Amino acid sequence: MHTMNPPGYLSTTRRTKIVATLGPASDTPEVIAGLVAAGVDVVRLNFSHGKPADHQHRADMVRAAAQAQGRYVAILGDLQGPKIRIDRFKTGKVTLANGAAFDLDADLDRDAGDETVVGITYKALVTDSKPGDVLLLDDGRIVLRVEKVVGNRIHTTVVVGGELSNNKGINRQGGGLSAPAITDKDREDIKTAAAIGVDYIAVSFPRSGEDIHEARRLLQAAGCSAHIVAKIERAEAIDCIREIIQASDAIMIARGDLGVEIGDAELPAVQKAFIRIARDMNRPVITATQMMETMITNPIPTRAEVFDVANAVLDGTDAVMLSAETAAGQHPIKVVETMARICHRAEYQIDAKRNQPPLDIPFERVDQAIAYSAIYTANHLSVAAIVALTESGATALWMSRVSTEIPIYAFTRSEETARRCALYRGVQAVHFPYSSTDHAEVNRMVIDVLKNMERLDDGDLVIITKGDLMGHMGGTNAMKIVRVGQLLGVE
Ligand code: PGA
Ligand code: MN
Repeated sequence: MHTMNPPGYLSTTRRTKIVATLGPASDTPEVIAGLVAAGVDVVRLNFSHGKPADHQHRADMVRAAAQAQGRYVAILGDLQGPKIRIDRFKTGKVTLANGAAFDLDADLDRDAGDETVVGITYKALVTDSKPGDVLLLDDGRIVLRVEKVVGNRIHTTVVVGGELSNNKGINRQGGGLSAPAITDKDREDIKTAAAIGVDYIAVSFPRSGEDIHEARRLLQAAGCSAHIVAKIERAEAIDCIREIIQASDAIMIARGDLGVEIGDAELPAVQKAFIRIARDMNRPVITATQMMETMITNPIPTRAEVFDVANAVLDGTDAVMLSAETAAGQHPIKVVETMARICHRAEYQIDAKRNQPPLDIPFERVDQAIAYSAIYTANHLSVAAIVALTESGATALWMSRVSTEIPIYAFTRSEETARRCALYRGVQAVHFPYSSTDHAEVNRMVIDVLKNMERLDDGDLVIITKGDLMGHMGGTNAMKIVRVGQLLGVE
């Protein structure tokens, strides 16, 4: 086969991570094993659908597959949040004509919708709406203009009609709905997430840093140590993006709802800017929604989808996400393989290497200084690998904020940390349950592990970072450069 791939391309590891949503199309041990083998790094349990037992069962299947294949796969529980929906139609669906009158009625019986009116689950939409507002249903496919609000009934005119079926979502153009980010259902789902022991939890529709703080309090109360992913999908979140990022552990550019609220033409600029800000603020970022949409039914992606995935990689995203493609599509495994191939190739573009170590920020911590020094050195010296001996994964995360082609290995005693690193671009976790406090011996063991994994040859340079007191959180204070096969007995 003729190939334009650079030398060594296939033998190295993909750096960009893949998040795959589970659902009916991926509900057997075989498909889940196939997803993991195809390269899924994080699975998303979507709490908008299914019962707690379904999520637990999926998590069990993922853990079994990851264990069998010797992989670390993180589990992300995604809270539904205040997704506003219409109720149901007597006939399941209706067709709305352009220019017709159509009402949303908070008092209507939940199954009593027809061509003229439908119920709404979110009663406060009535007080949030005023004449002239534009409401977008079904991800913007149906457009309604509010004429007047009488009692609990919103009278609208259909601007763009079409088919509308049960339980479709409602967004208001420009945002501004009052719904709090955490609903009663989310509070219950946080308990489910805690029982499952998810590694990440996604908070949907946060408006502020305070929404994330509240989620964190609830997680702590439930005894859950999951890290928080803030889904950026509301217009209000744009204005306080730094506050939201600061409050959370990672973000998701949730292009579906966000595009409906702020307009699709705004999305590329927001994606690029927010990936940069998240990286600068030391947070991983997931780019989500419709990345391989046509592969829900088709066996190959469109060229536009190929470019979308590659461009997200060039923008510096940590991970790209699949939603219905793996949850309900016809080719769940093939879409992961295809996405992995596109990511891997895009990483060889020269533009993929543009994130530099921060030159003008004061370092706040010793471990941070070591992490940046190590990655800076690695990028200026021909090294084969960087190894961070890490308890929390923080050193590896800092390193991964800087673009490099060099693999970053997070050697950790904690399985939890190993799974968490599955989201960090360019980081591969290695479970390393060492107990020695002898630095020379630990260095030797690290090199042996990587040699056994066939990642190193004699003569290669390796950078190892660790602390004097190995195994202490935040204790990294040293960087050592070793040559494989030489001087390993000397510290
Ligand atoms: P969802 O979030 O798939 O839970 O709606 C992602 C998005 O809105 O893009
Ligand atoms: Mn969404």
